[in-house]
Amino acid sequence: RAKQQGKQQSCFFSQGLENDLNERMELEQVLREAIDKNSIEVVFQPQIDLASQQVIAAEALARLKGKDGDYIPPPKFISLAEELGLITKLGEQILRKSCFAAKDWYDQGKPIRVCVNVSALQFCSEGYFDQVFAVLEDTNLKTSLLELEVTESLLMQDVDLVEGILRDLSLTGIFIAIDDFGTGYSSLSYLKRLPVDVLKIDQSFVREMLDDKQSMDIVRTISDLGHSMQLKLVGEGIETAEHEQILKSFGCQMGQGYLYHKPLHKADFDRLVIQGALIS
Ligand code: C2E
Ligand code: MG
Ligand code: MG
Ligand code: MG
Repeated sequence: RAKQQGKQQSCFFSQGLENDLNERMELEQVLREAIDKNSIEVVFQPQIDLASQQVIAAEALARLKGKDGDYIPPPKFISLAEELGLITKLGEQILRKSCFAAKDWYDQGKPIRVCVNVSALQFCSEGYFDQVFAVLEDTNLKTSLLELEVTESLLMQDVDLVEGILRDLSLTGIFIAIDDFGTGYSSLSYLKRLPVDVLKIDQSFVREMLDDKQSMDIVRTISDLGHSMQLKLVGEGIETAEHEQILKSFGCQMGQGYLYHKPLHKADFDRLVIQGALIS
């Protein structure tokens, strides 16, 4: 009996493992193909100035479709690209598409800044600064219309290296945001000496703040910190008017979330935001 069960179990485990391997191989294939064809999609989620309700920036978010036609969660294919040593190339393609979009908005008379997520591995890779600059030159985008979103965990890596690259980027006029702020462990004294422009308050705190006093306190504390360091604050994951109202009461200047817009394909972004069609 026990033997039988053991056999069944090992059978179950190896089946699970095989599925995992197949899934990974399939994902790797899809990812390599997308990079070869430069076919990664990028969608844009508006960032709203809470006082004027105007769209002043947009976060670029990468999208990759699996063989079944469903989108694969970005953290999944981004981390695989990191593992396979493909993130530099993938990241450049995403950056290029993002800057190209922002240049087009600018040409249409709407200087909307594009905010691009940067993986820690890409950020620390040899020649990252040159890559960013080459893309800006090729797309003819002003530095002030590009914002790079880095994570708190990146700041904890090679401190001197990271600080140096941040400084070089910032000196050119590129904006620097810290994404998912509050989920990492960056020390305040370190943060203070970094050339950072924006703190993005992690959406988990925004989501939970109505039900959880601690989350509310964290949002208030981050807001106070942002003010004392003269940083712009962006509330992420705003889904209700109440979320917005609380963030505004803490002095948060900008917001991003489903209350305003989901991430949009470029054509929809242009129609809804740039041409201001009254469809939404
Ligand atoms: P993130 O940078 O914090 O991006 C915000 C995520 O929250 C996006 O998920 C967005 O679609 C989602 N979101 C926005 N508003 C709301 C809301 O009101 N409610 C809820 N529940 N969610 C909202 P997405 O696109 O699935 O991306 C997940 C994460 O994957 C990103 O988190 C980022 O860390 C990473 N990622 C996405 N695109 C890229 C990329 O091009 N490069 C890198 N390195 N990472 C990326
Ligand atoms: Mg982000
Ligand atoms: Mg600066
Ligand atoms: Mg975030």
